[in-house]
Amino acid sequence: MVNGVQRLLFPPTCLFCQQLLDTPSLSTGCCRDCFEKIAVWPRSTCMRCGTELPEVMAPGPCGHCLNHPPAQIESRSLFAYRGPVRDAILGWKLQGQDGAVRWLLESAIPGLKEIISEQDLLVPVPMPLSRMRKSGSHHAADLCRWMAGGAGCRWDWQLLRRVGEQPRQSSLSGQARRRNLRKAFSLSDDFRARRGEASVVWVVDDIMTTGSTLHFAARAIKPVGCEVKVLSLARTLNRG
Ligand SMILES: [Zn+2]
Ligand SMILES: [Zn+2]
Repeated sequence: MVNGVQRLLFPPTCLFCQQLLDTPSLSTGCCRDCFEKIAVWPRSTCMRCGTELPEVMAPGPCGHCLNHPPAQIESRSLFAYRGPVRDAILGWKLQGQDGAVRWLLESAIPGLKEIISEQDLLVPVPMPLSRMRKSGSHHAADLCRWMAGGAGCRWDWQLLRRVGEQPRQSSLSGQARRRNLRKAFSLSDDFRARRGEASVVWVVDDIMTTGSTLHFAARAIKPVGCEVKVLSLARTLNRG
């Protein structure tokens, strides 16, 4: 009865497109249209940089990694950054609506448990302090908290820090972006204690584009003395 009244007052809608859900979809939170457009990141990839490779060439290394390997030894992404996934991330980052992103993560937990062990440590890509104060949120840290909760491991948002104030990366050219990022990260003084028993540290970000940010963040973590891997919620399909 209560459920019936609730449905009349707050009819269930798709978390992604807000369309009313028909009865069979009631428990899923995602309509059939959106569900079919959600693209998970390809399974056949170069292990090192995470870009898609033909099955016979996986796990690489790809040609790019043979010449210019990134700092991390492994790169993973959960979804391709397009369609409903893109809308979900923008709605979360710009309007604070996290329902669709939480739904995506929830559906990715079984896969995350396969790649993240309980001994691993998740570390968000840090934001400049001024931007964190302005927006009042740290999206990569939220991701770490949710992912660590699902995978049953630790996370620590203070192990890696942002140094100084850099302009928004999106306003810079590729070369200027790399120059800026080279000195953008530093380890906290007590990084050994923060690392604890972890032998793998994952650097986590919401969207991976060129991979520069994650590469330089991973490079800064290397002195911690463990394997450094990177993980993004979503990744754009074209390099560059
Ligand atoms: Zn929908
Ligand atoms: Zn590669």
